[in-house]
Amino acid sequence: MTSRLVPHGAPAAYFTFPWLSDVGLAHATTTRHCPGIASFAEPIAPEAPRAPFRSEAAAVLGGAGLELSRVCYARQVHGAATARAPAGGGFAGSVDILVTAEHGVPLSIFTADCLAIVLYDPAARVLGLAHVGWRGTVRGATQAAVRAVGELGGRAASLRVAIAPSIGPCCYEVDEPVIAELARAFGERWTTWVRPSRAGHVMLDLWAVNEALLEDAGVPPTSIGNPRLCTACHPELLYSYRKGNRGRLVTVAALP
Ligand SMILES: [Zn+2]
Repeated sequence: MTSRLVPHGAPAAYFTFPWLSDVGLAHATTTRHCPGIASFAEPIAPEAPRAPFRSEAAAVLGGAGLELSRVCYARQVHGAATARAPAGGGFAGSVDILVTAEHGVPLSIFTADCLAIVLYDPAARVLGLAHVGWRGTVRGATQAAVRAVGELGGRAASLRVAIAPSIGPCCYEVDEPVIAELARAFGERWTTWVRPSRAGHVMLDLWAVNEALLEDAGVPPTSIGNPRLCTACHPELLYSYRKGNRGRLVTVAALP
């Protein structure tokens, strides 16, 4: 699977993944140059949810074939709960995994270091998007996303998966409380996903963890595209929470 990203605009306002375009999925992951994306300073109030996009974003993402008037979004809480997108789009609840089998309803996941994972079964026409950081990883969000797509008729073996730009093993130092959670969730296996850092810390490869979990869930390794573009290494292009940015990237995709 090619791991190339295609930039759109100069400077690029969003990227697309050729291995999703090839199978007809409208999608985009924005950069910091896309206007109209709500920041961390504008959290979703579940009692009065408003779509975390403004009209400037709708204009840009319309160029990727995404109709934001029907966009589905969630209040992301670093968990492993799933929601099916409402028929006309809109607020899906406090969850980190969104799924749909409906044509033209964009699903959206907001990140700034965490992984946004797109799961698309072109044969079954089922789509899922997941927000996965270290908390979601130890809580089983990745496996839950594969299961949720499966409940709508998708098959792990026929999925095309993309991992959006997120923090890489070059920049993701974690401390003992995180190490303890990894050990609790994965036993000794966690040691294969880290390399040494200063005392009491390790550099965590959250890409490798989630690729392994996807493979455990039945996704062929050749079906997982990861451009390995680190948010913390590219401040001119991306947002990184760890680097002090409060802006967010969004990954959006809609079934054909
Ligand atoms: Zn990096």
